[in-house]
Amino acid sequence: MTNPIPLHSRHRSVLPDWLALYYDRPVELTHGEGRHVWDADGNRYLDFFGGILTTMTAHALPEVTKAVAEQAGRIIHSSTLYLNRPMIELAERVSALSGIPDARVFFTTSGTEANDTALLLATTYRRSNQILAMRNSYHGRSFSTVSITGNRGWSPTSLSPLQTYYVHGAVRTRGPFAHLDDTAFTAAAVADLEDVLGQARGGVAALIAEPVQGVGGFTSPPDGLYGSFRKVLDRHGILWISDEVQTGWGRTGEHFWGWQAHAQNGPPDIITFAKGIGNGMSIGGVVARAEVMNCLDSNSISTFGGSPVTMAAGVANLAYLLEHDLQGNARRVGGLLLERLRAISATVPAVREVRGRGLMAGLELTKPGTDQADPDAAAAVLEAARAGGLLLGKGGGHNTSVLRIAPPLSLTVAEAEEGAEILAEALRTLN
Ligand code: PMP
Repeated sequence: MTNPIPLHSRHRSVLPDWLALYYDRPVELTHGEGRHVWDADGNRYLDFFGGILTTMTAHALPEVTKAVAEQAGRIIHSSTLYLNRPMIELAERVSALSGIPDARVFFTTSGTEANDTALLLATTYRRSNQILAMRNSYHGRSFSTVSITGNRGWSPTSLSPLQTYYVHGAVRTRGPFAHLDDTAFTAAAVADLEDVLGQARGGVAALIAEPVQGVGGFTSPPDGLYGSFRKVLDRHGILWISDEVQTGWGRTGEHFWGWQAHAQNGPPDIITFAKGIGNGMSIGGVVARAEVMNCLDSNSISTFGGSPVTMAAGVANLAYLLEHDLQGNARRVGGLLLERLRAISATVPAVREVRGRGLMAGLELTKPGTDQADPDAAAAVLEAARAGGLLLGKGGGHNTSVLRIAPPLSLTVAEAEEGAEILAEALRTLN
């Protein structure tokens, strides 16, 4: 029997108001294949938001589906307490890929829990609850992670277990260093970091940063900035945590991890990851130097983190993305897409900037000729693109006025062209 009450009304009557949905008429997705998804009305969409970056490789990828089904059919049990073959296999691969010498891996079920674990490690290791975070950042929804989130729209409490200092450096086009060249920008950001450190009382535990800010609207500093920060941090023994929840696994095209664009003074002490690694299955985790990972002197385990089923998905997905060089695909197809987006946007005055790396592209919309963010324009383009058969994302610290594009990494050139055409049409509605 079908329920006569529309699904959206049911959503609203039982779920919190802050669980906001995209679109005036929210979409119910029923299935996906490759880079496409279908809704309950039978409409087909090209997915340029990759299930908010969770669908790393492709929808319903047979290799991952098979691995999940086989493992689920064999055993789903505690992630810990007993030997867990898929967890060890994934940890070996992640550890080897991390770039951190003598790395250990701990699996969680989300990015939030991964960052929460990184904070637990860093504050314990350094015996300090002082954290440096970037303005406009997003690191999760738990009590600890909202208190290191610089994007005010995503930080619902000012009560905090941590003492957080925010530093400049992640946003190029706004704020006090806007429009400085790379060298001057880096020097100004390093000076700001030094200044903030001068104000911190006692030792600071860690700096946490997203190499490319995701929720913040795909903004990134000049290459090498976090490496320059690292030099300052090293003088104080402060740890560097790279939040790779959006940038990991080759999405930025040039590198496997986002931190590798900032590698001149060595790797981070801790990397956190989540989202795409399980191609939609809930995997998060932390990689850290053994000395840092092993600083906890009491038990800390997770019932579902490292579940054999999600780990099997991770092993299969990682193998697929390495074998098919999806990082290279992100670089090639992402480069073409960015070029197309720049060409299209040149004729749309509302697009203030097109930016991105690999298959992460952002279009910042403002009231034409001004710096004033235009969330209504972003919402209008999102609706128009949907009507044309394209799903996009939104982001940005300025009232979500940045259109975000992050398709599955297997996007083809033809699909990139198709999506760019639909987006061009949607943007034209603003002129
Ligand atoms: N860090 C970053 C950079 C993120 O983008 C997100 C999710 N948007 C998180 C952490 C939190 O991940 P999750 O939603 O899996 O808790």
